Amino acid sequence: ELKDSTVIVVFGASGDLAKKKTFPALFGLYRDGFLPRDVRIVGYARTKMDEVEFHKRTTSYIKNPNNDEAIAAKIEEFKKISSYVSGGYEDDPSFENLEKVLRKVESETHKGRERHRLFYLALPPSVFLPVAANTKKHCYTTEGINRIIVEKPFGKDLDSCRELLGSLKQFWAEEETFRIDHYLGKEMVKNMLVLRFANVALGVAWDKNSVSNVQITFKEPFGTEGRGGYFDEFGIIRDILQNHLLQVLSILTMERPVSFSAEDIRDEKVKVLRAIPPIERSDTLLGQYVAGSGKPGYLDDDTVPHNSVCPTFAATTLHVRAAYRSVPMLTVPRALRLTALNEAKVEVRIQFKDVTQGIFKDISRNELVLRIQPSEAVYLKLNTKAPGLYTRALPTEMDLTYKRRFSEVKIPEAYEALILDALKGDHSNFVRDDELDVAWRIFTPILHWIDGRDGPRPKPVPYPYGSRGPKELDAFIGKYGYKRTDEGYQWPVTNLA
Ligand code: NAP
Ligand code: NAP
Repeated sequence: ELKDSTVIVVFGASGDLAKKKTFPALFGLYRDGFLPRDVRIVGYARTKMDEVEFHKRTTSYIKNPNNDEAIAAKIEEFKKISSYVSGGYEDDPSFENLEKVLRKVESETHKGRERHRLFYLALPPSVFLPVAANTKKHCYTTEGINRIIVEKPFGKDLDSCRELLGSLKQFWAEEETFRIDHYLGKEMVKNMLVLRFANVALGVAWDKNSVSNVQITFKEPFGTEGRGGYFDEFGIIRDILQNHLLQVLSILTMERPVSFSAEDIRDEKVKVLRAIPPIERSDTLLGQYVAGSGKPGYLDDDTVPHNSVCPTFAATTLHVRAAYRSVPMLTVPRALRLTALNEAKVEVRIQFKDVTQGIFKDISRNELVLRIQPSEAVYLKLNTKAPGLYTRALPTEMDLTYKRRFSEVKIPEAYEALILDALKGDHSNFVRDDELDVAWRIFTPILHWIDGRDGPRPKPVPYPYGSRGPKELDAFIGKYGYKRTDEGYQWPVTNLA
């Protein structure tokens, strides 16, 4: 339920995330009437700037391609409910000042009513702790609900994650904390629960008897291009696999929750993650891109350390070993893989087993593909009789392309969905502390190996910029059961894809 009279404080309001995601999402919610009545937004960061500059930055990513007057008017209204305060992250006087500002803002709009506060930390991890401590100490309202949103990275491995979470817990209770993994706000990821648990036809096939293997794929067509410093320190696994793709995997493989309440869903996610042993080195393929398609290689980027062996591509196979209760679980291997590749896509590809041999030979396998981005779609590749006077099976598809099926609907941005959930106090699509713990347990051993903690660092195999990945990839995936059975498959191209 939305609470009237809420102030949303965005820390790090001068930064990249705030400009590109947080403020555009807040505006999207405001425009569509989803923010609480009398909401006020206060941006906070060290950068000194006046409100004109602040508004210019925070609205620079808001889209109004056709110069629609109604939207332009909404943007002006949005500016009126947002203001900026500059201050430090570590000192008491700065937060005493922020508290004064918040009280003033509240007294203008919230006369005699409750005062609720949502703190959004769009900040680098080095200041998570002081800001969490100072908001609790100086800006915690006693006249309403306090909530805090934090962004990844939640540590660099199991120990550092536990330390960070433990420190934050001194100030903020789990109930008040909303840890964002923005993949959980994506429409297709949220759809996975409905697809799985509202369809008998899919539900019965969702197990090891029918499924051969599942691939969760993230591909990006560009390289580090100047942000090599950050990337080289974290690597592709910490950036994408350990958080976003593992979240997708847990929803894909968890058992049916007792209800759709936040704790029931998260209990099941934790259970399935606990059934995944730490990844083996032999189940890992690491790659690094070299020059190709006229583009420079990773090591040619000036912001990347000379001789870096940081992987820009990783394929890892996780084995889900769960068969608790009477419901069968997928116990198939699955590969997560990645990045400077030939296209941009995030998809889940569930490949089913071969049909019983006999009447058919060399027939395509069924595949259910959930395309998370771009252009959301669910399609099932299935064999159909080729129309005509003979009997021959042809790979075709049952296709649910969102743009066609839901042509009138605007699909919300992940951050819009998540900020609205946090305002309502719904934790379903946020990461619980114990989920992080198991997630790090799965990935920490290979991360320490890649970091060179246990000996020499593994050397990634090269792949050209703009390719599908290392040449070793197809054999790697093949090892876990994937067969490319429909090379002749042609999707009738439409302008909707
Ligand atoms: P950012 O632009 O580097 O930092 C945000 C703001 O924090 C800066 O404008 C700066 O504001 C302050 N800041 C930067 N470095 C600081 C330092 N060393 N000490 C104290 N303050 C510092 O970061 P961001 O890209 O917005 O990301 C914020 C958080 O969101 C990070 O945890 C990041 O991992 C996460 N995240 C970002 C994205 C994205 O698209 N950018 C996506 C997912 C998650 P002042 O100097 O004005 O105080
Ligand atoms: P696809 O792009 O042909 O890829 C199918 C699988 O085969 C992927 O795992 C892919 O791996 C792999 N692969 C691709 N090229 C390969 C090669 N040369 N050697 C070995 N493996 C290869 O996808 P698809 O599902 O069959 O669909 C074909 C096209 O139709 C796609 O462009 C798809 O977007 C489109 N389509 C769209 C819709 C829709 O929008 N609703 C519906 C149906 C089909 P990588 O991912 O590593 O390349």
